Amino acid sequence: MQPQAVDASLCPLCGEPNRCAMEVEKETGVKQPPCWCTQADFTADLLARVPVEKQRLACICAACAAKD
Ligand SMILES: [Zn+2]
Repeated sequence: MQPQAVDASLCPLCGEPNRCAMEVEKETGVKQPPCWCTQADFTADLLARVPVEKQRLACICAACAAKD
């Protein structure tokens, strides 16, 4: 892994595991139900707080999405 590689399983805003179903599926090889994030409403404001290098790479966690 490259030193600056983004850990897609960690929330880019709080650093906690985002538990994205798609990442869990990749990690465990176990089929997951559709992730809550496919239903969540991520506002432009919220997305703007994600560091540029992590945008589109790491999922925001449910807690941070709910805070906005
Ligand atoms: Zn978070």
